[in-house]
Amino acid sequence: MPDLIKVAKFGGTSLADANAMNRCASIIEFDSDKRIIVLSATSGTTNLLASLATIDDLSARLSVFEQIKENHHNILSDLNLPDEYQKMLDELLSGLKAKIESAEPHDIREMDTLLSYGERLSSTLFTGLLNSKGIEAAYVDARKIIKTNSQYGDAEPLVDQIRDRAEKFLLPEIKSKRLVTQGFIGSDKAEITTTLGRGGSDYTAALLAEALDADVLEIWTDVNAIYTTDPRICSDAVPITEMTFDEAAELSFFGAKVLHPATLKPAIRKNIKVYVGSSIYPDQPGTWIVKNTLDKPIIRAISLRPEQTLITVHSLDMLHRHGFLAKLFQILAEYKISVDLVTTSEVSVSLTIDTNQTGLLQRLSPEMIKELESIAEVQVEKDLALIALVGNNLDSTAGVSGPLFNMLDNINIRMICHGASSHNLCFLVDQQKAASVVQKLHKYFIPQKVEN
Ligand code: ADP
Ligand code: ASP
Ligand code: MG
Repeated sequence: MPDLIKVAKFGGTSLADANAMNRCASIIEFDSDKRIIVLSATSGTTNLLASLATIDDLSARLSVFEQIKENHHNILSDLNLPDEYQKMLDELLSGLKAKIESAEPHDIREMDTLLSYGERLSSTLFTGLLNSKGIEAAYVDARKIIKTNSQYGDAEPLVDQIRDRAEKFLLPEIKSKRLVTQGFIGSDKAEITTTLGRGGSDYTAALLAEALDADVLEIWTDVNAIYTTDPRICSDAVPITEMTFDEAAELSFFGAKVLHPATLKPAIRKNIKVYVGSSIYPDQPGTWIVKNTLDKPIIRAISLRPEQTLITVHSLDMLHRHGFLAKLFQILAEYKISVDLVTTSEVSVSLTIDTNQTGLLQRLSPEMIKELESIAEVQVEKDLALIALVGNNLDSTAGVSGPLFNMLDNINIRMICHGASSHNLCFLVDQQKAASVVQKLHKYFIPQKVEN
């Protein structure tokens, strides 16, 4: 039995080809505490599968299939896996082909089943790779463990059921072998496949870490660490050695793609340390996310979340009347719209909606707008980006908003939320200008080349 239980998750770019998969296998080989291995689909596969939602023509749909088949066959042959894995892979691929031929492109429920093939293919290959390296490993279908509600495309996990199943099916097994399973996918009460939203493999790994009372959750990805901002946007970004659960939760919620926004929730519930590191350079220091850190900088990091929609409703009925906001939120709830930020004035309310999520775009329907228009004037603004300064005591520290507004004096700020949380100050700007705003703020607020 290992000393500790570590759950290790590897993302899509970490599994892009046979070389990348071999690097991940070596990370596992040298640490016998890594008992649960959670995998994303290979790089690009989920995007290919997701593109099927907008392709009606069968021959175009089948050419997507051929691309996925070729990519996985190439990895299989480069890894030189035994015939049994070729057979397993081909069975999965023929299931995928049949599903592509029969599925209704616009049905979000069928989409989840299609998307699940990405993770099922990658984890089949990876189980074969570990065993061929002499690391005893078994494939586990995550849908047996990760029970969710039936909100296809963005399902909510059912934590108690997940814990019961993990204790029953995983705990006895991890003593003798590594278990390889899929991130992102689960199943509902009727055993129909669901997904946890794009990027959801991080969340799966955190849910399993929680269910098994793991000691450490490891997220292996294509960056060395969590940086002070997305290093793709800002070349001055600095790797963060240690940060708190609260800071990381806010950062991911406000758009840092490095972690799915819900990942920290299970870790916080069970106080499980999270490590973010690079599967390409595993020896480089990564980021530890823990309950408390010695330093509490006012600004730890800056995030950017694109594709936000701002809905402003305006009605004189709001003035000194009760019930208007209740009516407004009731309509949004009926259409399952999740609102992120809200600001109100005497006669108007502005709300932001993340239209970057799979599924949400479909739900921002003309019918919903019509219903809103029955109670108020409605304005919808698209192509905005949400920028958040994430840190500590931002609600009570002087000297942040002054320089911030000075720097942005020629930028049209569409909405500001300040004071509701001590961990963030955020605002909406035109998406086209967002990257340059982040670069500017980063230069001013983040000390350069100094380790946090
Ligand atoms: P994976 O496939 O491993 O899940 P993702 O692409 O989902 O990887 O997340 C890693 C990416 O997150 C990085 O390549 C980087 O561009 C982006 N990212 C955004 N914000 C940050 C940040 N603050 N620190 C590090 N990476 C970030
Ligand atoms: N493969 C899924 C996606 O690309 C889940 C993940 O990678 O975390 O969204
Ligand atoms: Mg990811």
